[in-house]
Amino acid sequence: MLRTKEQYREKLYSMRDNVYIGGKCLNRSDPLVEGGINVIGVTFDAAFNPETKDLVTATSHLNGETISRFLHIYQTQDDLYKKQQMLRKLCHVVGGCIQRCMGTDGSNGLYVTTKEIDDKFGTQYHERFKKWLDNAQRQDLVVNCAQTDVKGDRSKRPSEQVDPDLYVRVVERREDGVVVCGCKAHNTIAPYADELLVIPTRMMKEDDADWAIAFAIPADAEGVSLVCRSTSSRPRKHLDAPYNHYGMCDSMTVFDHVFVPNERIFMNGEYKFAGRLALSFANNHRFSYCGCKPAVTDVIMGATALVADYNGIAKAGHVKDELTEMAIIAELVYGAGIASAATANVTSSGAFEPNFLYTNCGRYHAGMNIYHEYDVLASIAGGFPATMPPEDDYFNPATKAYMDKYIMRNPEFSAEDTHRLFRFISDLSVSAHCGVSQYAGVHGGGSPVMERIGIRGFYDFESKKQIIRDLAGITANNSLHEGVMGKK
Ligand SMILES: Cc1cc2nc3c(=O)[nH]c(=O)nc-3n(C[C@H](O)[C@H](O)[C@H](O)COP(=O)(O)OP(=O)(O)OC[C@H]3O[C@@H](n4cnc5c(N)ncnc54)[C@H](O)[C@@H]3O)c2cc1C
Repeated sequence: MLRTKEQYREKLYSMRDNVYIGGKCLNRSDPLVEGGINVIGVTFDAAFNPETKDLVTATSHLNGETISRFLHIYQTQDDLYKKQQMLRKLCHVVGGCIQRCMGTDGSNGLYVTTKEIDDKFGTQYHERFKKWLDNAQRQDLVVNCAQTDVKGDRSKRPSEQVDPDLYVRVVERREDGVVVCGCKAHNTIAPYADELLVIPTRMMKEDDADWAIAFAIPADAEGVSLVCRSTSSRPRKHLDAPYNHYGMCDSMTVFDHVFVPNERIFMNGEYKFAGRLALSFANNHRFSYCGCKPAVTDVIMGATALVADYNGIAKAGHVKDELTEMAIIAELVYGAGIASAATANVTSSGAFEPNFLYTNCGRYHAGMNIYHEYDVLASIAGGFPATMPPEDDYFNPATKAYMDKYIMRNPEFSAEDTHRLFRFISDLSVSAHCGVSQYAGVHGGGSPVMERIGIRGFYDFESKKQIIRDLAGITANNSLHEGVMGKK
């Protein structure tokens, strides 16, 4: 059953208080969590809006109900394409990350991988996961994916760390479940999610079997603490605007002897599949970026084009060039997502999985350009978004007339609209909220170097050499397999 935004909010407020921000334990009704809740609220509203409901809902293959597309498992290549369209559209509404795809990507990764584990070991994880998902779909839950461990020394595997809790691990196995300890980092939406999907973050070896654990847990379960950072667009006193109601929290999610019952465990020691599950989630999440990141570029591009109009420089050659370049970045990333959807592979579970190569190329291109896009906006907006006086000075009778007079640029646009535009650009690009978005653009779904490693491992460089052998008339195939790319 589709929930309303109000039902979602009501359930959050009734959860156990385990959200910590700024040295205090808060109820989820605290204003510091509000901006993120408002973003997720948009996904609930869109499911009832006649204009967006076809994009934002889907028919469950598990129970035949109309469900949120954020909880849907890809049954066709078109499902993947629709997800991409949905993300681009909803990210426009909030002016940035729509945040709810973490659960979609974790669910799709688990759906595919649990089947593969069962196929290999005769375990029952896939049926368990389907039951959990069926319930999540029926209750229209908001789900975070807690993948990234705090990781300690990056050069060491989990079992090699000085402190074994630096990766989430099983500390006790019982007949009815397991007890886990550890901490996941950077968990977006965790303080306003109903459930956390916890999965491994890397490949593992036999010694790491206790760390090869995947499960679902309510976000307020006993022993779970969410120590969070919160940013929102700056609140407005006078010029209220939709963008200023949105924000985001990320948590360090601490598991202190948390009991996970058997029915919520989806991997338990099958270390050979830890890498497969980690990469399956990453592939799905990087695919999400091919939909959401073009939307972020659209927002920066729109702000750049509009401020060029306001500044009276829209016809300048460098402005047109920079805008064209931004359009190329947005559409190449989006195009990579479309290619990834169109060539998606069907897995043994029957679900489709985005094409790894196109997904990673798209995500990489997005990550490498994020700072450049802000650079273009800053260069065309001028310095005012950084130095403009606070909102109050535009409304103080002693200074209002000066402020209104001297903010004017192109006379076609009023003082108030000019003020609104520059304050928006300031919130978008000269703020704590912006800094977080920039880092998210680089690291979310994996750092660019991880995408490069992924592409390198997947790519068939040998076939490219063969093209040259054929063109050059070289008949011997005496290729050195051990090249810069390693053994094929
Ligand atoms: C805003 C934001 C939101 C996020 N949301 C979520 C979320 O909801 N859930 C979630 O699970 N994660 C989330 N992430 C985490 C994201 O996936 C990670 O930030 C990313 O994978 C990089 O990991 P890290 O931050 O630990 O950096 P590190 O792993 O410390 O990486 C730093 C650098 O070291 C390199 N490096 C790391 N290990 C090695 C090695 N062994 N050898 C050589 N080089 C190495 C990396 O490639 C990178 O260049 C989020 C991140 C951000 C910034």
